[in-house]
Amino acid sequence: MKDIQAIAAALAEPRSVVITTHSNPDADALGSSLGLSAYLNKLGHDVSVITSTDYPEFLKWMSGNESVLIYSDITAEIAKSKIDKAELIFCLDFCDLKRVEPISEFIRISTATKVMIDHHLNPTDFAEIWLHDTTAAATAELVYDLIVGMGNSKMIDSSIANCLYAGIMTDTGSFKHSNTTGKVHRTVAELIEHGAQISMVSQQIYDTNSVNRLRFLGHALNELLKVDMDHGVAYFIISHADHLRFELKSGDTEGLVNYALSIKGINVAALFKEQPGEIKMSFRSVGDIAVNKFAEDNFSGGGHKNAAGGISRDSLKNTLDLFKKLVDSNVFGIHE
Ligand code: 5GP
Ligand code: MN
Repeated sequence: MKDIQAIAAALAEPRSVVITTHSNPDADALGSSLGLSAYLNKLGHDVSVITSTDYPEFLKWMSGNESVLIYSDITAEIAKSKIDKAELIFCLDFCDLKRVEPISEFIRISTATKVMIDHHLNPTDFAEIWLHDTTAAATAELVYDLIVGMGNSKMIDSSIANCLYAGIMTDTGSFKHSNTTGKVHRTVAELIEHGAQISMVSQQIYDTNSVNRLRFLGHALNELLKVDMDHGVAYFIISHADHLRFELKSGDTEGLVNYALSIKGINVAALFKEQPGEIKMSFRSVGDIAVNKFAEDNFSGGGHKNAAGGISRDSLKNTLDLFKKLVDSNVFGIHE
């Protein structure tokens, strides 16, 4: 409540506001940003949403999407001047400026009051005001708490409810992950009463596959999945050639790693994606296995205990060799 009061005080007069979120925005990043943006517009603030990178087509239905400034589309100068002019910068769904490259430096040097709203572990100290709760299932849940905490729940219309619902639905794996609390269900019930169109949101996010994406899924399950039953580890390796062959777009590999985790006897799943100059990794685990720590210790990454990511600037081969070496050394402490 203290944090919400501090945010309310910062919003007491009309402000020039920038909202930003982590690179490669997912539904929670974008949904919480656009939900908050619509709410702040209603309060009379001048709001710009800036993302450091583009995001998948299946998120572009959200209300306010047309006004999002994508750093790679606009010049650095426009992003910089928006951030320079901002009196308040909301940082949503991340708690370390490393996650918002390449605009992190503009944010770091800005004199605006920075407000972090996030649910990830290990926050770094770059914001003056924090609404940070690692027990929240999604940043969208915290944005909902903020609006309600400011006494403005009546301002939540169908568009805002859809954005927030999208973030909560995806970050809970459609209400299946262990972060799905009673409060999550109560929040979602209230969002539905405010007009969230749950079947439309689900359809937009999950049922808008391209034929290429489905063919790629078949290829990935057949050819790219490696299973190490002895260590309870399964992973996908996606080369740049696969990328070109199936014309993969941003978001096309999202959710793929979960197929590896769905195998009986598998406790850790990974996905390695070869991109120009880097290998991007996703990790998933069950129970007490902390893949965020694993990602942090070995692959300059982090995230949540059961869902994390990392990055390597080494070759695909060397990255995989390191991963296999770690698995063989029983790093996950399973199958003694
Ligand atoms: P995903 O595998 O879906 O891209 O990411 C899973 C989780 O790990 C998300 O919560 C995301 O914020 C976090 N994550 C992904 N990549 C990175 C990374 O490179 N660094 C850190 N610190 N977290 C990451
Ligand atoms: Mn999130």
